[in-house]
Amino acid sequence: MEGRRSLKRPACLLLCVLFLFCLSACGADPSPRTASVWAFDTLCSATVYGGPDSVQSPLEASLREGEGLLRAGTDGRRFAEADGQLLEFLSSEEAELIQTAWQISDWSDGAFDLTVAPLSALWDVSRATRPPAEEDIARALALVGYRTAECTAEGVCFSKAGQGLDLGAVAKGSAGDRAAERLQALGCTGGVLDLGGNIKLFGAKPDGSLFRVGIRDPRGDSALGILTLTDTSVITSGSYERYFEYEGVRYHHILDPRTGRPAESGLLSVTVVCKDGALADMLSTACFVLGAERGTALLDTVNASGRWPAAEGIFVLEDGGVVVTAGLEDAFSLTSKDYFRKEADP
Ligand code: ADP
Ligand code: MG
Repeated sequence: MEGRRSLKRPACLLLCVLFLFCLSACGADPSPRTASVWAFDTLCSATVYGGPDSVQSPLEASLREGEGLLRAGTDGRRFAEADGQLLEFLSSEEAELIQTAWQISDWSDGAFDLTVAPLSALWDVSRATRPPAEEDIARALALVGYRTAECTAEGVCFSKAGQGLDLGAVAKGSAGDRAAERLQALGCTGGVLDLGGNIKLFGAKPDGSLFRVGIRDPRGDSALGILTLTDTSVITSGSYERYFEYEGVRYHHILDPRTGRPAESGLLSVTVVCKDGALADMLSTACFVLGAERGTALLDTVNASGRWPAAEGIFVLEDGGVVVTAGLEDAFSLTSKDYFRKEADP
């Protein structure tokens, strides 16, 4: 018996090696396919390995589906037209997303709040040229607050007409997850999806290597550091993304629901890394409003709950400090001399 087994083993091994060699030599096409689509009001692109000859139509189909699942209007906002109105969930995906968002609102003490819609519509940062009047900010602010609305199993019930939901902070993260799933189901073995700076990574390159994602220098066009990883989402919220300037002051698109104005928490950007892209998207916006210290505490709370895959963060501070949570120590390297590593302030 023993003699027969020892004769067979090398033969089996040789077959396996030959099989793997054929797979890598004949099967995997080393050149990537690219596709791009305008969706979610931004340029979305894919660079993938393996799978069909063109990924243009599957990418487009999944992003349109993502838009349709999450949106009533083109800008991602919808409003209650009467007191006590229930805005029904459009899909089970949306229900899950909004229920998670309510949890993040609680844990962030309202820094993250989908009911910011009246305020974000008033600021309309993509089109505006000057800030709104104080009394208009106060009026919009009176309609904001997830605690004044009830998130039920069917939808969100608002107490006052004019209240509403803004899915701008969550839509792209979840769409990236869906698009990656579809491309993998079509046989793509690795890829990078970029939905306006919200990155989704899956699989590996044909040579087996991981992907390298640059973390943008918020004060320039280059990268301040590099993350090397895969099978996750890398999602950034920053004051440099969408803004206008008025009388020398920059007004960006992430609003602090406590003040009704663009958040000022000492950050230039936050990048959240998590396998769940929808969650990463929410957390990047939440952490931007909270700042480095309270933001890292929020990530700790989310991770301690054990309900989702681990969420880690890179906080870029206005003074050039870069705070990196423990789970990214190995994956992140700081490359810019204009920034320095820093611990979160106690
Ligand atoms: P981007 O959409 O540029 O990737 P974010 O994910 O951070 O950036 O989302 C910003 C968008 O989220 C805003 O354009 C607005 O629609 C919405 N928003 C702004 N402030 C908040 C907030 N405090 N909580 C939830 N959503 C917000
Ligand atoms: Mg976000």
